[in-house]
Amino acid sequence: MRVLIVGGVAAGMSAAARLRRLEEKAEIIVFEKDEFVSFANCGLPYHIGGTISKRQSLLVQTAESLRESLNIDVRIFTRVTAIHPEAHLVEVEDVKTGAKSVEKYDKLILAPGAKALRPPMPGLEHPAIHELRNIADMDGILAALQAGAKRAVVMGGFIGIEAAENLLERGLEVIIVEKMRQLMAPLDPEIANFVQSELERHGVQVLTGAAVNGFRDESGKVVVMLENGVHIEADLVIFALGSTPFSDLAAAAGLKLGARGGIVVDAQMRTSDPDIFAAGDVVETPDFVTGDPTYVPLAGPANRQGRIAADVICGRDSAYRGTQGTSVLKVFDLTVATTGLNEKALKRAGTEYRKLYLHPFGHVNYYPGTAQMHFKLLFCPNSKRVFGAQIAGYDGVDKRIDVVATAMRGNLTVEDLEHLELAYAPPYGAAKDPVNMAGFIAMNMLRGDVKFWYAEEFDSLPTNAVILDVSTQNEFTTWRLPGAINIPIGELRNKIDTLDKSKLYHLYCKVGIRSYLAHRILAQNGLQSRTLAGGSDILKALRPDLSHKATATPPGRRPTVAVAGALAPSDTGAPPPALARMDLADAAPAAAASGRLVEVDCCGLQCPGPLRRLADEIEPLAIGDELEILASDPGFATDARAWCAAKGHLFISEARGPNPGSVRCRIRKQAATSPAPAGSRSPAETAKGKKTMVIFSGDLDKVMAALVIANGALAMGDSVTLFFTFWGLSALRRTQAAEAAGKSLLDRMFGWMLPRGLDRLKLSQMNMGGAGTAMMKHVMQSKNVDSPAQLLASAKNAGIRLVACSMSMDVMGLKPEELIEGVEIGGVATFLAESDQSNATLFI
Ligand code: FAD
Repeated sequence: MRVLIVGGVAAGMSAAARLRRLEEKAEIIVFEKDEFVSFANCGLPYHIGGTISKRQSLLVQTAESLRESLNIDVRIFTRVTAIHPEAHLVEVEDVKTGAKSVEKYDKLILAPGAKALRPPMPGLEHPAIHELRNIADMDGILAALQAGAKRAVVMGGFIGIEAAENLLERGLEVIIVEKMRQLMAPLDPEIANFVQSELERHGVQVLTGAAVNGFRDESGKVVVMLENGVHIEADLVIFALGSTPFSDLAAAAGLKLGARGGIVVDAQMRTSDPDIFAAGDVVETPDFVTGDPTYVPLAGPANRQGRIAADVICGRDSAYRGTQGTSVLKVFDLTVATTGLNEKALKRAGTEYRKLYLHPFGHVNYYPGTAQMHFKLLFCPNSKRVFGAQIAGYDGVDKRIDVVATAMRGNLTVEDLEHLELAYAPPYGAAKDPVNMAGFIAMNMLRGDVKFWYAEEFDSLPTNAVILDVSTQNEFTTWRLPGAINIPIGELRNKIDTLDKSKLYHLYCKVGIRSYLAHRILAQNGLQSRTLAGGSDILKALRPDLSHKATATPPGRRPTVAVAGALAPSDTGAPPPALARMDLADAAPAAAASGRLVEVDCCGLQCPGPLRRLADEIEPLAIGDELEILASDPGFATDARAWCAAKGHLFISEARGPNPGSVRCRIRKQAATSPAPAGSRSPAETAKGKKTMVIFSGDLDKVMAALVIANGALAMGDSVTLFFTFWGLSALRRTQAAEAAGKSLLDRMFGWMLPRGLDRLKLSQMNMGGAGTAMMKHVMQSKNVDSPAQLLASAKNAGIRLVACSMSMDVMGLKPEELIEGVEIGGVATFLAESDQSNATLFI
């Protein structure tokens, strides 16, 4: 039997080696167009960063070693240029000499992999733009580093993120640009947010919603041009928009391709021609959960498929059982992993599902070296089947995702997860493993022991809803949801009689454990409640507009300090005033360091442990003393910053701790700040001034007036929030955005009727079929009046906050991706919280 194989890496070599092991007499020829076969493409980014120090380590096998050990005829620099299925022939070209020949086959295996997606864009041929798919690409990037590259722009998929980390390790300034509003499409946005935070924590700048338009040369450097008008000059670009099947040969030979351009194969990896097999990144396979065709270019499936093709050719009864998309990625200290379907896919498919979140430690928190992970599980409420999971964390993530992936393969249910018996000793896990815990929560949901509310519901809570924060007063001072009242869990039982039975309590805490306990207390006292799934950690990840991230100034930026309004008495039901921020420069000068430093290790403490410890430890210190506090949760730095801001202490620095994900924060004690009386405005706030405007109208003149006032207020040092609702949303639409997918006919009709962006707005009067509007624009230009677009751009530069009303967006079927860059989505609570702090609110 003569078997020809096109492509000599994962799928191709896996097939070749298996064939030889099963069929000693077969003639096996592998054609590889490049220099290297069987190289470790997954290791390429790590040689760039230096973790894999020897280039040679990536070259797992050579043509010679394969000939020697497996008697395989490996022909490098040999490209297969055509297939003739009827004649059982392939045409072959020697890449170096151009010499052509034909080879006959009994069976042919196509394993040519994938190629990088390269949509047509100006300037793509610039020499500073590199792909990262093979050894030659890697060498090119290393040469650019040697030539002194200082700044890299990288695109934000799997390969881009690996490249970003490794380029940063090599000392480059790295900027990731990503067209979507999140990194890493296989993840849901709240889990992707942890990836973004980790990248930013290590100094990578991440621009989401930033579509690349093209490139141009600037004195030998490459300028990356973004659709939003931003241009970034760089020495190096890693062009990694994703990959597409290398199926041109197959298409030309008349083999059947699927909707994603991959070769269609049956379970035996046979193409539409019975003597031609295909495997790896070039094929489409059934999704393990849905059974629908999918395209998942990963090394595991490629290797297994190559092996199955060889089995079948040798007469074995072997079949591929679908692709689950199980994958894992290192992002500095963070590990992020996924298996099965994500929520976006379930929504698209209209499948009924339930979701839960948990934040367990990788191993018991009293044993050093662990941190919390963020675990999302999706499952079917009827069959209890697991649909998928996503986990981001610092310890034991790969193990848990593999357990869930295995459970899915075995068709286990969430009930089965409760009963899995998994290995435990303190350094490795917990007696109740995170996977068991996920099963417990799922079954609590199905048994009715817990009712969740979700972050997405925040803007549309029922009218009888009371948002009840059950964390400590200390945490409540640091961050709270707009409109929330505070009863710490420890006080809840004593205050239960003061609660109103006609209300529906929406409980929350940081990670969801205390609010679950509160939920059980309320339920057993005849009160209706729901607990926030995943706690405020997940809510903040999904709703950055509510996260008060601005109080958490990243290292190196100008520090800000919050001036706390007083806490509303926790049981009156009156919403407390939100935190206001002011620059340190405006605050009283910081007390000088006394020279005394107290070190505190609170690694492994569950929330609110670290924050409580911070408060306890700073209490006895003298003004000017410093506290260095080590925590295992990287999110602690954000909390500590906000806490210091609220309490008036000086947050000095944040640094990486000794364990993955751990963080060391340094804080200097300042004179105590006395909280202002409830509802009163702090002097700093009034001095600064704040304006909030509701832009209801979509008329050019009215929007112009709003932008003129906003720019004026900004120029006078005020902060300004513009809240766009109903017709006003037209001003925020992208001019050229493609219509978002999955819209109903009614939503699409709204889309056609609403003007797309500022340039398309019309005058409220004297429009005269567009002539009046054109005349007005002309007059404005001749009198040097800024256009609406210029006014908006300068307001954005001056730090205006643009909020699109989520309710009107929903009513009009507008999707976030249809809005311009830099717009937050917010509901009435966001508007009210802003208006509360403003000394003027205008309705336009
Ligand atoms: P490939 O490995 O791409 O091999 C195809 C080969 O066919 C190529 O060498 C190509 O030159 C050759 N070829 C193509 N056309 C012809 C022709 N006409 N004639 C002759 N030869 C031809 N996956 C993971 O699961 N985990 C990871 O961590 C991971 N990291 C990655 C990092 C990088 C930088 C890259 C590029 C990929 C990574 N992948 C990862 C994906 C994984 O490498 C692929 O899924 C896997 O290699 C696919 O195997 P394949 O054999 O189908 O294709």
